[in-house]
Amino acid sequence: MAGNRIVVLGGGESGVGAAVLAKVKGFDVFLSDMSTLSSDYKKTLKKNGVPFEEGGHTWENVLNADEIIKSPGIPDTAPLVAKAIETGIPIISEIEFAGRYDKAKKICITGSNGKTTTTSLIYYMLKNVGLNVGLGGNIGRSYAYQVATEHYDIYVLELSSFQLDNMYDFKADIAILLNITPDHLDRYGYDLQNYVNAKFRITQNMAAEDCFIFCSDDEITIKNLNQIVIKAQMLPISQEKEVEVGAYTLGGRMHVNYGGDPYEMPVSDLSLQGKHNVYNTMAAALTGKLMNIKNESIRKALTSFMPVEHRMEKVLSVRGVLYVNDSKATNVNSTWYALECMTTPVVLILGGKDKGNDYSALFDLVREKVKAIVCMGVDNTKIHAAFDDKVATIVDTSSAAEAVKQASLLAKEGDTVLLSPCCASFDLFKSYEDRGQQFKEAVRNL
Ligand code: ADP
Repeated sequence: MAGNRIVVLGGGESGVGAAVLAKVKGFDVFLSDMSTLSSDYKKTLKKNGVPFEEGGHTWENVLNADEIIKSPGIPDTAPLVAKAIETGIPIISEIEFAGRYDKAKKICITGSNGKTTTTSLIYYMLKNVGLNVGLGGNIGRSYAYQVATEHYDIYVLELSSFQLDNMYDFKADIAILLNITPDHLDRYGYDLQNYVNAKFRITQNMAAEDCFIFCSDDEITIKNLNQIVIKAQMLPISQEKEVEVGAYTLGGRMHVNYGGDPYEMPVSDLSLQGKHNVYNTMAAALTGKLMNIKNESIRKALTSFMPVEHRMEKVLSVRGVLYVNDSKATNVNSTWYALECMTTPVVLILGGKDKGNDYSALFDLVREKVKAIVCMGVDNTKIHAAFDDKVATIVDTSSAAEAVKQASLLAKEGDTVLLSPCCASFDLFKSYEDRGQQFKEAVRNL
């Protein structure tokens, strides 16, 4: 890189971490954010001597950068970013920057759904056997902050497509691509291929000694894999066919074949239930084998790991009705998997901010398993249009408390009330976490 001035755009977890690392590495750093920063982040920046501005960008103080580190939430179409691109200032992601200073082994996980679950499970497994491992990326403390302040031998990193954008020289040692279903298309010019290309960036720079775990049942993944060359060792996971090297299920058992000592166990013993979680678990188990974890330790992790909050989280049984919080289900595919693993009649709480959903993939499962839909959103017209003729009862609500109350009236002993909204939360809630918390609170108050 030519000069010494780094400007960080965005002062959230990612940007603040990047700024601290840049400072530690001796750069002339400046951080700029359109909105106000949280008091904690301001404290961190001050403590580390990083100058910053908030509530707007001073263009001349940004466009004099030798390199810009852009936070994942900021689109390329933001006027200042567009100008920086036009001016020819290199723009990189926090992950790219931190990767330059990190010699640890990197296990990186991406996909449209299942990232947090799989990342957390792998971290749990490695930590439990006493390895010096850090957890970062789209989860917990930023990767850059940890590179600045910790010394880990291994990182398990959850990478969203936005984090993979603006990554050029970064290399994963083990890369996992769980699945690709349409999501975030508003950020990718409404072109699925752009989103797919971002996901495949996780494989860039990989060499023959690296490993790429992918789902061979995933149509979009396979179609695109056939068109690119990846040097890494290819390790498929599948619930549809046996694979020689990789992981698969057959007759209710999960098999993991890598190295000399195959691993297998009944799917019913896994602590994470549901077909989607079998994929996540297979990816984790295979990673365990690649990391030379003993079969017994893999088994221990896979049978004792608890679901991450807001992902198919069993909240409570009230008068024989089980309440499940899957607030993180913000797209059609994740709700599909939630319904797929339901074994009782379901009262489904659905709705929120629609990101251009096509609900038709849910029709069969809704007809088969859902007795009533409780809409929870400001505008429920698309849900009515999709489901009015598919369920006996469909009601409108506009808060978590009201939705849970209505659901409790519609559910009978033995049923499940499932919050798996298929939509983003921002119309009624601060975030999916806030939505899940309010749901749980309402259930506890029943
Ligand atoms: P991400 O971090 O990719 O958003 P999470 O692990 O937080 O993934 O799960 C998000 C949602 O997707 C949850 O509703 C969860 O039940 C569902 N889900 C988890 N794993 C998968 C998978 N492999 N395929 C489809 N849906 C999944």
